[in-house]
Amino acid sequence: MTTVWVYAEVGADGRPEPTALELLTKARSLGDAVAAVALGPGARAAAPALGEHGAQTVYASEDPVFAEFLAEPAAHVLAGLIAEHRPNLLLFAATYDSREVAGRLQARLGATLMANATDLPAPDRAVTQIFGGTRVVEVALGGPDPKLVVVRPKSFAAEPSGGTADVVEVAADVPEGLRRARRVERHEERAAGPKLEEARVVVAGGRGLGDEANFDLLRQLADAIGNAAVGASRAVVDAGWVPYALQIGQTGKTVKPDVYIAVGISGAIQHRVGMKEAKRIVAVNKDADAPIFEIADLGVVGDALTVVPALIEEVRRHRG
Ligand SMILES: Cc1cc2nc3c(=O)[nH]c(=O)nc-3n(C[C@H](O)[C@H](O)[C@H](O)COP(=O)(O)OP(=O)(O)OC[C@H]3O[C@@H](n4cnc5c(N)ncnc54)[C@H](O)[C@@H]3O)c2cc1C
Repeated sequence: MTTVWVYAEVGADGRPEPTALELLTKARSLGDAVAAVALGPGARAAAPALGEHGAQTVYASEDPVFAEFLAEPAAHVLAGLIAEHRPNLLLFAATYDSREVAGRLQARLGATLMANATDLPAPDRAVTQIFGGTRVVEVALGGPDPKLVVVRPKSFAAEPSGGTADVVEVAADVPEGLRRARRVERHEERAAGPKLEEARVVVAGGRGLGDEANFDLLRQLADAIGNAAVGASRAVVDAGWVPYALQIGQTGKTVKPDVYIAVGISGAIQHRVGMKEAKRIVAVNKDADAPIFEIADLGVVGDALTVVPALIEEVRRHRG
């Protein structure tokens, strides 16, 4: 029997992060027994949604210690649960919090840890990209169980199975010595419109926009289209034009919208790994040889500062 666990991040409002539901959906195809571990305020309230996506059991603790202190309490409690129940495989999302928990757990267990996976063909095999995303490889996970695998968000679609989960209360016996890095402030970035990872249309800008102020054109285009989000290449994030939360690519977010509109983005491989799965790709670039055109379904060779305003006009006219 193969037992697969998912480390599920949950909000204090009891809503699981979408990544938890994505990983549970995949876990159903890998294990006979699937469980989620949810630690922190909101854990119990998240159990029905976790169950609906495949967790037969939710190991839950509402203790605020997990929200107040970074990673160490969660890794400690996970290590205890693993010693007791001996799962074969543990899946983590490649988010800041989960990555740190996975890393600390690996150090405690000496377990095999596979980072940056994009698929798991079997409980002991993972797929990942190497050489800056230019090669996809399948990796055998050796060593004793449990294997720890950190998976990129959006690698799987979340699909409910209609199940329910038993909730098993977990004791938060966290020693004082592991209450060290305290979260002192939580900053919520206010953003209008849909989340970048969930938007059906993404309008992304790169250095070809020329100036921070021109990024506003993309916001106008997203507004005109409706239900669209704005993203960016790393070049403009590094230049400080937009926050890191908007970055798409190898070291940013992975998006799979219905339509991806790349404006003034060259299409470097590190950018492409974060958006190439979009159903339709539209590229606007003044260089006809820009690599982005290799994967574009529709390419417009032209100056972004001419094409985008015309596009905004056209979309507005079309939408009445
Ligand atoms: C380890 C590593 C990780 C990385 N991670 C990421 C990542 O997560 N995401 C990411 O995006 N990058 C990432 N990069 C950087 C990546 O290699 C590229 O440098 C970056 O994507 C380039 O951004 P850009 O396309 O906006 O800029 P550029 O490469 O400078 O391209 C600008 C484009 O705009 C076009 N252009 C110029 N003027 C106009 C105009 N007026 N109208 C229309 N088009 C115009 C140009 O022809 C050009 O194609 C990473 C790099 C490394 C080494």
